[in-house]
Amino acid sequence: AIVDSFPLFDEHLLELAKWMKEYYGCRMIDCLRCIMPSSMKIRSEYFVRIAPKIDNTDIEDFKGRNKVEEEIILFLLNKQKYVLLEDVYDIFGKESSKYIKKLIKEGIIVQQEKEDIKELSYTIKYISINKDLDLDELEDIIELYQSKKNYHAQARILSLLMINDWIPVNELKKALQVSNSSIQSLVNKNIVQIEEIEIHRDPYSHMDFKSTESLLPTQEQKNVIQYITAKLEHSVGASVLIHGITGSGKTEVYLQLIDEVIKRGGQSIVLVPEISLTPQTVERFKGRFGDQVAVTHSKLSLRERYDQWKKAKEGKVSVMIGPRSAVFTPFSSLKLIILDEEHENTYKSEISPKFHARDVARKRCEMAGGVCVTASATPSLDSYFECEEGKAELLTLTHRANDSKLPSVEIIDMRKELELGNRSIFSTALQEEIEKNLKNKEQIILFLNRRGFSNFVSCRKCGYVLKCKNCSISYTYHAYNHSIQCHYCGDKMKVPSVCPQCGSSHIRYFGVGTERVESEVKKHFPDARVLRMDLDTAKGKYGYEKILDQFKSHKADILIGTQMIAKGHDFPNVTLVGILAADLTLHLQDFRSAERTFQLITQVSGRAGRGELPGRVLVQTYDPGHYSIETAKEHDYLSFYQKEIELRKQLNYPPFTHIFLILITGTNEKAVISNAYKLMEIMKYLNKKKKFELFGPVPAILSKIKNKYRWRIIVKCEDRDLLMKYGFYCINKFKSILNNQEIQIQTDIDPLMM
Ligand code: ADP
Ligand code: ZN
Ligand code: ZN
Repeated sequence: AIVDSFPLFDEHLLELAKWMKEYYGCRMIDCLRCIMPSSMKIRSEYFVRIAPKIDNTDIEDFKGRNKVEEEIILFLLNKQKYVLLEDVYDIFGKESSKYIKKLIKEGIIVQQEKEDIKELSYTIKYISINKDLDLDELEDIIELYQSKKNYHAQARILSLLMINDWIPVNELKKALQVSNSSIQSLVNKNIVQIEEIEIHRDPYSHMDFKSTESLLPTQEQKNVIQYITAKLEHSVGASVLIHGITGSGKTEVYLQLIDEVIKRGGQSIVLVPEISLTPQTVERFKGRFGDQVAVTHSKLSLRERYDQWKKAKEGKVSVMIGPRSAVFTPFSSLKLIILDEEHENTYKSEISPKFHARDVARKRCEMAGGVCVTASATPSLDSYFECEEGKAELLTLTHRANDSKLPSVEIIDMRKELELGNRSIFSTALQEEIEKNLKNKEQIILFLNRRGFSNFVSCRKCGYVLKCKNCSISYTYHAYNHSIQCHYCGDKMKVPSVCPQCGSSHIRYFGVGTERVESEVKKHFPDARVLRMDLDTAKGKYGYEKILDQFKSHKADILIGTQMIAKGHDFPNVTLVGILAADLTLHLQDFRSAERTFQLITQVSGRAGRGELPGRVLVQTYDPGHYSIETAKEHDYLSFYQKEIELRKQLNYPPFTHIFLILITGTNEKAVISNAYKLMEIMKYLNKKKKFELFGPVPAILSKIKNKYRWRIIVKCEDRDLLMKYGFYCINKFKSILNNQEIQIQTDIDPLMM
């Protein structure tokens, strides 16, 4: 049967899907799923309700009808709102359709296709760890449960929640295949909590967007706008990177470029990291272009997203704002794609096809003859390197648009604090600065990026971080057997009881979270009004907005937050930013950890002193000499870049090489491990000329999720095509020899997280 009344994609998007299939080595069907709206399957859904004119007093009129008819009427009368037709069938059986048809004919029931349904609302249940629990307690509980026979499901739930601040309950159940009763017993024990959140059809309908006019661009902005506008004229496809410091007015540049595109009858896509897709961000675009703007977001219901997709498909809007999936917006005269904060990891998809929105955006622009603009105050090393290679053009914005100064950054050596007997999470200097600000009624942001398993093992006395001797990558702590492992080469050992460098026994696992910071702040500064913004507090209806609005209107003195507060927000009265533990990102078991640290410090610092008063930033660290921290202090991207790129070159890491990651998963741990080794043997055998560097097999960083064990192999090579050919060849060879049903193999080319 013909499923769709209109084609879901045009030839360009089909071409794009084919390209993705080749470029990422994935299945065509997965690529097509990407470019189709995720809501396609609900398109033909119908809803029914009792006709509004009928009320309970009419019940008598329906007596004596067929029994099923009578029951359906009673059921709908009770509901008094639209009900999914499928749900009615669930209750009364598919045979009831003939009665429903009859009742519709008689005008007793009314039916609607989903597009006109206004009253639907959805609730999603989220589960998270109880806020009062600290990380150490949680680890103890998990360890205890892992050792008890009937508690494994609960241990798995907690392990997953440790990494994800909150998860929809449904997803958790699907992912781990755990029962309601396991979840419920954790709720009863007060270890986790569940919260229900209502999702609205049009999340922006309650907002009034003040309309804004173009600002007079600064000379630098003007240069950038003119340069890119000229590219738009040529329609040959171009790629531009804007390196613009925080507050340099990049958004105003986007707005004026979009304006140019609209004037030429074209369409634009603006990609932003999901986390920055706040109502404030949307307001800047809606305020300028009103109804021309559509917004898509993963928190919208499928129906809402479908509405936005359709508007774009029908050419009813000229601008789409959204996270990475918005790169597939079906515009027919696409001229411009903007990737804001292009260094963000969320631009890379974690499910197949594991595409990077930057790659896809470039390809789309190349095909459509449009311009791809990537922008950041801290461009990814990959992107900046591409400019040096001539694959993209570099434009810069070096001044703040409103002439405010970049903040002064001071680095605080936390080892010295400890020597002086200060064990608090606040250095003396930070405490003093906070007090000063509170007295002067200026606002403060305290930043701590505790997300996920950012645990690393380090000595509090000398700052020594336990690192693998082969890879110079930090060891990861495994609680279950109290060991540390290098996730790159597999090296493993017991946690030493004393520091290998200074002999001190102050070896600690870092795991302070924002909640702990909040309670410390309240202890130290009992009179301060405090807000906390992380995934725990920002969920719920308009959670973001509330916190941001409260802080902006100075209803609080201190805002504590995770990377959620790192970017995008404009708080003119914030003059002090404290970064509590810069080391958290520095020692992730990843060669990109220095890059992430530089980016985070720069972005968070960018929140200070955006108004008239100058800003100060205090960076607390146990590793004050690290180049990522020193260069961030000087706001010196270029020096950081040069240092980092040199290291990457020496160690043969991207962008000088490509990485092909192979993940072997399965529910039988022994099978996973033995097959991983067998695959490695084949890979070694097929690598006689040593063209490829092979690492592993080792447990993946997330070594067990969805009840599956995960081991990985990493292959490095400069030649991307050759690397993929070799990788897939080895995997196919392996499958043809062993064809083991117990394990699955996934691949990821150019992974961001390993
Ligand atoms: P970025 O995205 O580069 O961090 P924003 O776009 O948020 O910077 O701009 C920073 C501030 O400067 C905003 O308050 C913005 O309104 C203001 N601004 C931007 N461009 C101009 C301009 N040409 N004239 C005056 N103010 C500007
Ligand atoms: Zn190693
Ligand atoms: Zn030490």
